[in-house]
Amino acid sequence: MMPSSRSQLPGLAQRAERLRSSAIRELLHLTERADVVSLAGGLPDAASFPAEALREAADRVLRERPRVALQYGPTEGIAPLREWVAASLRKQGMDFTPAQVLITSGSQQGLDLLGKVLIDPGSPVLVERPSYLGALQAFALYGPRLVGIEADDDGPLPEQLAAALPGARMAYLQPRFSNPAGRSIAPRRADALAAQLAASSAWLVEDDPYGELWFDTPPEPGLIARGVAQGVHLGTFSKVLAPGLRLAWVAGPQVLIDKLAQAKQAADLQTASFNQWVLLQALQAGVIEHGLPQLRQIYRTRRDAMLQALANHMPAGVSWTRPAGGLFVWLTLPAGMDAANLLPQAVARGVAYVPGATFNVGAAAPNTLRLSFSNVEATILQDAVARLGALLSQALELEQTGATPAPSLLRTT
Ligand code: PMP
Repeated sequence: MMPSSRSQLPGLAQRAERLRSSAIRELLHLTERADVVSLAGGLPDAASFPAEALREAADRVLRERPRVALQYGPTEGIAPLREWVAASLRKQGMDFTPAQVLITSGSQQGLDLLGKVLIDPGSPVLVERPSYLGALQAFALYGPRLVGIEADDDGPLPEQLAAALPGARMAYLQPRFSNPAGRSIAPRRADALAAQLAASSAWLVEDDPYGELWFDTPPEPGLIARGVAQGVHLGTFSKVLAPGLRLAWVAGPQVLIDKLAQAKQAADLQTASFNQWVLLQALQAGVIEHGLPQLRQIYRTRRDAMLQALANHMPAGVSWTRPAGGLFVWLTLPAGMDAANLLPQAVARGVAYVPGATFNVGAAAPNTLRLSFSNVEATILQDAVARLGALLSQALELEQTGATPAPSLLRTT
């Protein structure tokens, strides 16, 4: 007989417990409503996708090399794309050979493969607070002991890293324009953290999807470029081209890349050959050089619009980060406020965000939330921030006066 509920499947309930449900994906259901402006998702600006360049590239690949592009290919990725990535990393001060580059189906797969290869149940894994939810989810499946490292505006705190590093298996950091905090590691802090990591036996996993999305000046190098030998660098074409391509990379020491390739073989044999050839063709035609300046301009305008709206509409006691790149702003509400509790009221007023608690390992941070400015035009975005500001002002006032919230404010949808 078929089991009547999922929990009756042997082992599934236990496993499901480890699968932390994605707050972002659940929220996206709410935000599909036309009357809700989503500052939640962090999706790239869809109007900027280089559709025409990719169409031309796809035509050319299908005309000139259909037999290779539609065939199975190497697990590690096609050689010329690995060469392109290695050359691009070299320009950023990272010395990897093409053989040390593994092409993955998105960076998300890279994170999962790293979890598979490096984490045993109970392994201490250090993550900055707050951290990328998708990484926490990927690692959690392998049963690590996640340890949150507090960060300030300059990045993770060296004294906390020093205390947690002995015996740690891995440290997961985002050096530039992080998701969700929109923060970058300051150069002196980066030197200090790199020295600590280089002297430890932990693997550094450096995730850098947003480094190219700088608004004013190119960012400082990350930690691997500062000489952490036992480290891997993850990058992706999702944010500079299009996430639907699902093309990214992991670069690192050969011994680890070989293990990751073995794990990848079990997962999906290889990253889609056709997508890789189309991407390569588009890269050779200069799609990134043509598109990036405009993309930076779009995100800079939206970042400015969001920061201006926050300054205009947020009540006293709310603070936020001022990202110099990337897609996200991180808000801290006065202590005692709970961003998750306020979300249904925000959605009722037509604006959605991601509550910050889920991004934080360790101490709860219910008074935080993430806003994204990437996929909403400036005027709409400013109006949404104004509505959020009005809600927070009202909620604060109610809290300060101890009044019972009006029924309309409590209405959920
Ligand atoms: N790392 C970070 C920090 C991210 O924000 C994302 C996407 N939101 C990823 C990795 C995964 O990106 P992708 O799988 O599209 O390459």
